[in-house]
Parts: sequence; structure tokens; C-alpha cells
Amino acid sequence: STHSTHPVSYYHHAAGGKVLLGLKRKALRIVVTGGAGFVGSHLVDRLIARGDSVIVVDNFFTGRKENLMHHFGNPMFELIRHDVVEPILLEVDQIYHLACPASPINALYHFVSTFSTNVVGTLNMLGLAKRVGARFLLTSTSEVYGDPLQHPQVETYWGNVNPIGVRSCYDEGKRTAETLTMAYHRGAGIEVRIARIFNTYGPRMCIDDGRVVSNFVAQALRKEPLTVYGDGKQTRSFQYVSDLVEGLIRLMEGEHVGPFNLGNPGEFTMLELAQVVQETIDPNAKIEFRPNTEDDPHKRKPDISKAKQLLGWEPSVSLRNGLPLMVSDFRQRLFGDRKEVGA
Ligand code: NAD
Ligand code: UDP
Ligand code: UDP
Repeated sequence: STHSTHPVSYYHHAAGGKVLLGLKRKALRIVVTGGAGFVGSHLVDRLIARGDSVIVVDNFFTGRKENLMHHFGNPMFELIRHDVVEPILLEVDQIYHLACPASPINALYHFVSTFSTNVVGTLNMLGLAKRVGARFLLTSTSEVYGDPLQHPQVETYWGNVNPIGVRSCYDEGKRTAETLTMAYHRGAGIEVRIARIFNTYGPRMCIDDGRVVSNFVAQALRKEPLTVYGDGKQTRSFQYVSDLVEGLIRLMEGEHVGPFNLGNPGEFTMLELAQVVQETIDPNAKIEFRPNTEDDPHKRKPDISKAKQLLGWEPSVSLRNGLPLMVSDFRQRLFGDRKEVGA
């Protein structure tokens, strides 16, 4: 493998790691599983832009070719339709393992593929990493903390997950994926990285996957009421996708296994989020209360001291600055050139 010799330091030299043009090292061969999805496609954009060779492995469960079409025809880019639950042979230097039915709706109705992708899919990608000596990065989730009894959540917290709860195929699936990752690290000497991602939003998010930011934005644009679940006092911390991608790349290139929380510590209640959406899209948007789902975490906010200290990373895009970028993408996808319904 080449990554033992590839210079880890080039990010620190490259103006905060924002863009790396004029590659001086050998191009890496990188697999991104789930690369046709929301986060994965933004990650692919960055890896291609810095001059590396990228293979996306995706079964299009929630991902879309449209997210990657701008790379079609580039010899440094390849898209393979494949379910990671099945073994695959590739020769690569790095594996970013993002494939997972990630939305809350999928976790409820597609519980078998959620669980098997997290467990068998992760096992296969670790087996691949072992065979070719590649470095492996797992995108885990803040959901491993469950309904947390510690606030904000630090990486050393073991979590409060209901193993038989409605979300458990997702939560426990990711916890198992972390377990497997550390087992391969210790047992087989694989170089691994673990990111625990907190709620992330931005362009290319699935429009109808039931996550709160995509729901509120689509609802406000369609002139429908914003659906607040429960009393709306539960909190989340919302990270813009470019901040996450920066964190993932720094984690992969850095020297530390993790786990690392990657999230924006700005904490909002769902009612406050609804208000920001109103301010950004439509001050007259109505709010409608709906019963909350079972086992919904009451609050969530990352402690990112570890990523700040060891990766030199912290988010730079606030919710009020990031939301408009997502809104223009949603407007375009919902209405094409027209500005709004009835406009
Ligand atoms: P997404 O649904 O947009 O992307 C997931 C991608 O994985 C899709 O392209 C889907 O088609 C693909 N996929 C699913 N199962 C697969 C399988 N068996 N084989 C091959 N491909 C498969 O979701 P996202 O928001 O981009 O999430 C990316 C990763 O980040 C996921 O692992 C998710 O759990 C994690 N994460 C995301 C968030 C967030 O807020 N977006 C928060 C925490 C963790
Ligand atoms: N695997 C894969 N691609 C590879 C190497 C392995 O998909 O290039 C799969 C393999 O089929 C197995 C899993 O990864 O299901 C774990 O592989 P490992 O070699 O660690 O375990 P073993 O096959 O020895 O049980
Ligand atoms: N939520 C909401 N309205 C919606 C969708 C979600 O109030 O239309 C709430 C949900 O109950 C939860 C929070 O928003 O408290 C975040 O939900 P999401 O599914 O986006 O993320 P997660 O629960 O995985 O953090």
C-alpha cells in the first residue's frame, strides 16, 4: 500500500486544507461507499478536486446518480452499482465507508438492510482493507449516544441506547460497526478512523427522507405547515456539510483513530429551528404540532474539544449562513426554474 509513505502533512501546508491543487504526491486510489448519497457526493467532489482517483460503491438505496453526474467522463472517477452486503474485490489505498440507509424513515421500515449494511457491509469493507492494507474510515453517528445522560456528549461517554427500541437497528448497527472496526484494528492491525457525525444538512439532502431540516425546508417552500414533533423543545446541533467533509478528510489523513465527534456545537430546539426556517424562507409559514416518535433523544450537542485539539478542526458555517445554500438547492430541485409554487 502507498499510504505509509504518502505525506500526512500536506493538509497542514495547504492553506488550512481547503483546496489542494497541483498535487505533488502520487494520486491515491480511494473508495467511497455510499458516495452517491448526500455526504458522500460532497466528499467525492473534494477528493476529485485535489487530484485523487475515486471509486464510488453505491446501490442507490437512497443515493442518486444526479449527485455525481458532473464527474461522469472523468477518468479519475468510477461509479460501481454494488451492495456492500456482498463481498467486493478492489485495489485501493483508502476506504471511506459511508454506505448506510441513514434516514429515520428507512431505519424504521428497512430495518433488515439497515442492520445488515452496518454489520455485514462494514465487515466486508474491513475485510477489503485488511486484504489490500488500506486505511479505513467509518462514518458512525451521534446516535451511538442514544438518549444521552451526559450533555454535551464527549467521546468517552458510552451512551444510553435502547437495544429493543424503534431506532435500534440503526443505533445498534452503528455501535456494532464501531465494534468491528476496533476489532480489526486490534486484531488484524488495520489502520482505522472513526467519526461520530452529528446532524448534518446541506444541498443534495434527500428531500423526503423525514429528517427535520429537509422536512422544514421542503414544507416552507411548498407552503405547507412545518411539522414540529412533540413539544418542539428537544434540541439538536446542525452542521453544514462542507464542515463535515473537511473534518472527515482531516481525520483520514491524521494520525488518530478516534472516535471523534464531528458536529457543530450550536444547539437549537426544534421550535428555534422552525423559526430560523421561517426567517430564511417564509415568515408566514405555519407551525403544526405532531406526536413525537418513541425514544426520541431529548437533547444532543457535541463536545468537539478532541477534534479541535488533535485534528485542528472546527466548523465554520453557522445555521443561519448554511441554510440559504440548502434552500436554493431545494428550490431548484422542487420547482426547477420557477421561484416558488404559484410564483
Ligand atoms: P445518504 O442516505 O444520503 O447516503 C447513504 C448512501 O449509502 C446512499 O447513497 C445509499 O444509496 C448508500 N447505501 C445504503 N446502503 C447501501 C448498501 N448496502 N450498499 C451500497 N450503498 C448503500 O445519507 P448521508 O446523510 O449522506 O449519510 C452518510 C453516512 O453518514 C451514513 O453512514 C450515515 O449513517 C452517516 N451519518 C449521517 C448523518 C447526517 O446527518 N447526514 C449523521 C450521522 C451519521
Ligand atoms: N472481503 C471483501 N473484499 C476483500 C476481502 C474480504 O469483500 O477484498 C470480505 C470477505 O468476503 C469476508 C469479509 O470481507 O466476508 C471479512 O473478510 P476477512 O478476510 O476479514 O474474514 P474471513 O473471510 O477470513 O472470514
Ligand atoms: N422532527 C420534527 N419535525 C419533523 C422531523 C423531525 O420536529 O418533521 C424532530 C424529531 O422528532 C427529532 C429532531 O427533529 O427530535 C431531529 O430529527 P431527525 O430525524 O432529523 O434527526 P435525529 O433524530 O436522528 O437526530
